[in-house]
Amino acid sequence: MKGKLEPLVRQALLEEGKNLKERLIALEEDLTHVTDNLQLEAQCIPNVTHPAVPIGGEENSFSFPIKDHMQIGRELDLFDFDAAAEVSGSKFYYLKNEAVLLEMALVNWAISEVSKKGFTPLITPEIVRSSIVEKCGFQPRGKNTQVYSIEGSDQCLVGTSEISVGGIHMDSIVPDSSLPLKYVAYSHCFRTEAGAAGMASRGLYRVHQFSKVEMFILCRPEDSNLFHEELIEIEEELFASLGLHFKTLEMPSEDLGAPAYRKFDVEAWMPGLGRYGEISSASNCTDYQSRRLAIRYRPSSSDQEAAVSGKRGKGASAAPTQFVHTLNATACAVPRMILCLLENFQQEDGSVIIPEPLQPFMGGLAVIYPK
Ligand code: AMP
Repeated sequence: MKGKLEPLVRQALLEEGKNLKERLIALEEDLTHVTDNLQLEAQCIPNVTHPAVPIGGEENSFSFPIKDHMQIGRELDLFDFDAAAEVSGSKFYYLKNEAVLLEMALVNWAISEVSKKGFTPLITPEIVRSSIVEKCGFQPRGKNTQVYSIEGSDQCLVGTSEISVGGIHMDSIVPDSSLPLKYVAYSHCFRTEAGAAGMASRGLYRVHQFSKVEMFILCRPEDSNLFHEELIEIEEELFASLGLHFKTLEMPSEDLGAPAYRKFDVEAWMPGLGRYGEISSASNCTDYQSRRLAIRYRPSSSDQEAAVSGKRGKGASAAPTQFVHTLNATACAVPRMILCLLENFQQEDGSVIIPEPLQPFMGGLAVIYPK
């Protein structure tokens, strides 16, 4: 009959249809499985990265057993803590050989990089009056003072050149047209490190005397947030150019210290210590220091307003003075930088590679070799 299949053919077709359906179900299961896996794998693909993102891992990876800076320093004859302990006490050190060149290179490099950005270079007094230390927000006396006072005098050793730079303009009205005043200062820093027991302090990490290049800005109050950002950018640019791995952290209120309104620290990876450690600090002190040091300026916009309102000349009231804002930030705290460079750029043969930006300041020296 027309349209009717042979029973055998019909049976075969039904069978085939059944098989196809079963295969389809199996394939659909496979597809679901593959799609699920694809989805899982796709979820693991990270975003593309901004061109400025540093290439590589968070930490330098080494294919050989690494040493900490104390062992590297011993093997390369770069410092002597034992003689310093006898001569001065614990947490003092002699730098030797290439470490001396490295300290001077770091200072020169930091001063020259920051002064290129319009900062005036300074070498500051390292003994200052206790009253200036106080006005900058540090405590020169008391059980836990960080400050070394000179017995029988009203003077102290500076813990940071921020104090001697802050003092330059005290008790004065700086011309509005001179703002911002930007300084990059080199000094030794002296700290008792009272209360630092138990804190990370191996070798060069925490010492009583160290060299530091410090940035300091005096500006109009409305500009201090912007200059704070600029200081952090300069720090990050400096550390990135040396090839360090670092992160910038906003400090919580309990870590601000007395003078800071807001503070960001940079921490760099220290392979020998196996952790990140603070290498710099950038603070906006707003008018905390300038009120105590009496550093003012007379806003010129008020002059203009007076002129517009016709009050200029006889009878015109001078625009009221205002306190400037002060900011400070580390460009290079030398011992922690030496620690970072030795630990991050150590090689399997015991040598240490000097980052390119420092080489011209070391007479072209590119590698410190074992003697
Ligand atoms: P501060 O002025 O306390 O913010 O310190 C500025 C930087 O100096 C810190 O970020 C550290 O890199 C370094 N520093 C502070 N204290 C010491 C110390 N006792 N020994 C070595 N480096 C230090």
